[in-house]
Amino acid sequence: MTHHDAIVCGAGVIGLSLALELRKRGLRVLILERAAPGGESSHAAAGMLACCAQEAPESHPHRALHALAEASYRMYPGFVRAVETASGMKVDLRREGTLQLLDAAEPLPSSESSRVLAPGELARLEPRIAGEYRAVLLNEATLDPRALCVALERAARHDNIDLATGSPVTSLRFEAGKLTGVRTDRAEYAAPIVVNCCGAWSAELESVDLESSDGTTASTHLPTRPMKGQMLSVVGAVPVVRHTICAHNVYLVPRTDGRLLIGATVEDVGFDKRVVPEAIQRLHQAAADLIPDIGEMKIHEAWAGLRPATPDDLPILGPTSIPGYFVATGHFRDGILLAPITARVMADLITGAPPAFDLAPFSPDRFAK
Ligand SMILES: Cc1cc2nc3c(=O)[nH]c(=O)nc-3n(C[C@H](O)[C@H](O)[C@H](O)COP(=O)(O)OP(=O)(O)OC[C@H]3O[C@@H](n4cnc5c(N)ncnc54)[C@H](O)[C@@H]3O)c2cc1C
Repeated sequence: MTHHDAIVCGAGVIGLSLALELRKRGLRVLILERAAPGGESSHAAAGMLACCAQEAPESHPHRALHALAEASYRMYPGFVRAVETASGMKVDLRREGTLQLLDAAEPLPSSESSRVLAPGELARLEPRIAGEYRAVLLNEATLDPRALCVALERAARHDNIDLATGSPVTSLRFEAGKLTGVRTDRAEYAAPIVVNCCGAWSAELESVDLESSDGTTASTHLPTRPMKGQMLSVVGAVPVVRHTICAHNVYLVPRTDGRLLIGATVEDVGFDKRVVPEAIQRLHQAAADLIPDIGEMKIHEAWAGLRPATPDDLPILGPTSIPGYFVATGHFRDGILLAPITARVMADLITGAPPAFDLAPFSPDRFAK
């Protein structure tokens, strides 16, 4: 049996980022991934680092998420630089900003990092948009999450993080009432710390038998559930937009390689990753209504992924009632954005350093009450 200081279950953007941060702090880390690293929700994401959402009122729990998102956004340039250097590859970080198009009745968002466009300015910035809109330019960025996950995996290997793929973690191991590691259907792995980063599948890992060898049972309850998102990408001879564009029923994310991503549905339909042609057609049409040239562009790819959702739309970050067992999941629509800060605060908790944020609003305990 192999021995490590920490086992990270799940090699999505969250598990990979956390593993790297734990390694940086000197821990021997093992990542266990049942399939291909970065192959689930992180592969499906558009890669918007959308940190400028309307701020929630004081005392609202989403206020805490907003602060976490802003902190993560600020970490991104350094995070990308470190990952690109360690991996020797680029992740297409683009900082042109997001143009949010507003319906007549919609209030103007108020934020230090946004600017209301003057009349005629939208047409100058993005001349192919059809129709008149009020618009706000948000100081946001995008990157390619698929490239990011490949780069994170390469950086992990470069940093001597062990990675075992191909079989799911099926249960936690206990000896004399203490957590001692995990089992997959092929092997056992020993470590005093285990972190559940299994995304939309986190609750499945939770529902395994947590009975210890001395007969006592420990349980935690993770109410994560999958929230399906379908998207497509199109390609054409010339780029049709430079900025990310967000309208009320569709968003467009340009990549430097010429692809344009069009997203996305949000569907509460269980563990169903089928691509439905009608849903893809609706998104393509909504994009073409906004920018007629898109109607002429070839569909390059269509796909679906499962966002890890929670009942209150907040991530679940922290220790559980089982000593040594931690959770970092439930990042819903913002897991790419929140990866750097999640890695930092979770590594703080795990290594006993005071976390830079009050993590109470994200505690796994909130669902036990
Ligand atoms: C269409 C779409 C668009 C999105 N756009 C954005 C965006 O623009 N910006 C943004 O910030 N976020 C976006 N998201 C959300 C983002 O993708 C997720 O929040 C993020 O990827 C979650 O990362 P994760 O590592 O928790 O989960 P995942 O990437 O799903 O990784 C979980 C991993 O755990 C593995 N696993 C599961 N069970 C086990 C087990 N028992 N044993 C071992 N391994 C296991 C899985 O195979 C998987 O690799 C989008 C999501 C979708 C679907």
